[in-house]
Amino acid sequence: MTQTAIIVGAGLGGLSAARGLEAAGWQVRVLEAAPQVRPLGAGISITENGLAALDELGVGDEVRERAVRSLPEGIYTDQGSPLQQDFHAGSSAVHAIHRGTLHEILRGDREVETGMRVVSATDASGSARASVTIEHGAADPDSTDARSERERRKDRARGTKLGRRIHRFLEPGDDPIDRRAERRASRDQVRAVEDARFETLEADLIVGADGIDSAVRKALWPKARTDYSGATTWFGVVQAEADSPAGPRMYLGRGAEFGMEPIDGGRVYWWGMALARMGGHADDEIAAAQRQFDDWTPEVRDHIAATPQAGIIRRDLFSLATRLRSYHRPGVVLVGDAAHAMLPTLGQGGNSAFEDAATLGYLLEGIPLEDHSLEQALVAYDRERVERTQRFMTIAERMARTNTRMRSPLLVAARNGLLNLTPALATEIAGDWMLAWRSPRHTS
Ligand SMILES: Cc1cc2nc3c(=O)[nH]c(=O)nc-3n(C[C@H](O)[C@H](O)[C@H](O)COP(=O)(O)OP(=O)(O)OC[C@H]3O[C@@H](n4cnc5c(N)ncnc54)[C@H](O)[C@@H]3O)c2cc1C
Repeated sequence: MTQTAIIVGAGLGGLSAARGLEAAGWQVRVLEAAPQVRPLGAGISITENGLAALDELGVGDEVRERAVRSLPEGIYTDQGSPLQQDFHAGSSAVHAIHRGTLHEILRGDREVETGMRVVSATDASGSARASVTIEHGAADPDSTDARSERERRKDRARGTKLGRRIHRFLEPGDDPIDRRAERRASRDQVRAVEDARFETLEADLIVGADGIDSAVRKALWPKARTDYSGATTWFGVVQAEADSPAGPRMYLGRGAEFGMEPIDGGRVYWWGMALARMGGHADDEIAAAQRQFDDWTPEVRDHIAATPQAGIIRRDLFSLATRLRSYHRPGVVLVGDAAHAMLPTLGQGGNSAFEDAATLGYLLEGIPLEDHSLEQALVAYDRERVERTQRFMTIAERMARTNTRMRSPLLVAARNGLLNLTPALATEIAGDWMLAWRSPRHTS
C-alpha cells in the first residue's frame, strides 16, 4: 500500500518536500492557504549546500541553467569603500534566482490545492493517523474565492433561523462566538454549521511546511515562540543598470545593511534591512526606503530609485525564539521555517529547507508503515537536522547583531576595521563546514 503524506504549505520548503517524498514513492497532497501559489519576496541566493540538496531533489541542473552563478564581489561600507574583496573559492559562489523562477522549477506540473488553510493538526496516537483540520474559505477573507465559498456555506446553513445565527457568529473574524445561541442549538445544527466550514484530513505523515507562523507547529509545539528582530526589510527587483554588480555585494552601515546581486532575466535583486519599530509601513515604501538609505553610496540609492512602485515589498523580520528539541511528533514532521525560522542574515533559511526536504525524502524511501520504521526515520531526521539548523539560527542571530543591529559609531568603526584586516579567504574557510553539506545518502 502506498504511504500518504499531506504537506501543509507550498513555499520553498513544502514544494521541495513534495519532490523528496514523491521520489521516495509516497503519495502526496500539498495544501496551500493562499488563493494562488505565489512566491514570497523577490530573489534568493542558493549556496553550494542548497544546490547539493536541489540535485538530490532532481532540479539542481535546471536551477544551474536558469540562475546567475557568481562569486561575491565584496563587502563595503555604506559609502562604498571596500572592506573585504577577492573571493575566489568556488564554494563561495552563489546561484541567484528570482523566487518566481525557483517556484516554477520546484513546482513543475504538481497540483497544489489552494485556498486550504490548515487551522489545526493532531499527531498519530494508537491506531489513529495524524490529521489536519482545514478551514474552508478562510484563505484570504477578501478574495473572490473566499467570498463565494462563504456564500455557499451560508446557503448550506440557512436551513434554520438558529443555524443562520450560529453561522454568523462562527464567521471568521467574528469573535467571541455567541455561546448562548450555540447552547440553544441542537448538536446537529451546530455540527452542520461546523461541517460546512471545517474538514479533517488524515494521512500517514503530515509535513508542516507552513512557515514561521506554522499552524502545525502551534498545534503540536504550543510553547514555541517567535521574536521580532527589531528590523524591517525592503526588497525589490530592477533591470540591471550600469553600476549594477556582477556578483553579490553587501554594504554595512549603522543600524542598517544593504545587499544586491544579479539574478536571471538581466535583473538585479536588492534588499535593505534597517532597525525599525514593528508593524510600521508607509503609503510610499520606495520613498521610505530612499529616506532610510539617503546618505548611502550612489549605487544603493540608484537601485532603490529604479524600482517600480508596485515592485517593492516590505516585511518585518521575525525568527523562531524557541529552539525545538525535536522536529517531529508521531506521524508529523516540520520542515523549513516552521521548524527553524532564522534571520536572513546568513542566507540559509531556504537552503536549509532544501536540505530538510532532501534528507526527509531519503530517510522515508521504501519504509514500511507496519512496524516502527516511520518513527525511526523521523528520529534519524532529527539527528540530521536539529543541531545543524540551530547552529544556522545562532550564527544568523550573531550576524544580525554585528550588522543591522550595530549602531554605536565606535563599534561600527571597530567592526569595519576588523573586516578590513580579515582576508576573504579566512571568511571562505570559516564557511566551509556549512557549504560542504551532502545528503545522508552520500555520507552515511
Ligand atoms: C529578506 C529575506 C531574504 C532572504 N534571503 C534568503 C537567501 O538568500 N537564501 C536563503 O536560503 N534563504 C533566504 N531567506 C529565507 C527564506 O526565504 C525562507 O527561509 C524560506 O522561504 C522558508 O520557506 P518555507 O517554505 O519554510 O516557508 P514560507 O516561504 O513561509 O512558506 C510557507 C507556505 O505555507 C503557506 N501557509 C502558511 N500557513 C498556512 C496554513 N495554516 N495552511 C496552509 N498553508 C499555509 C504560506 O502561504 C506559504 O506559501 C530570506 C528571507 C528573507 C525574509
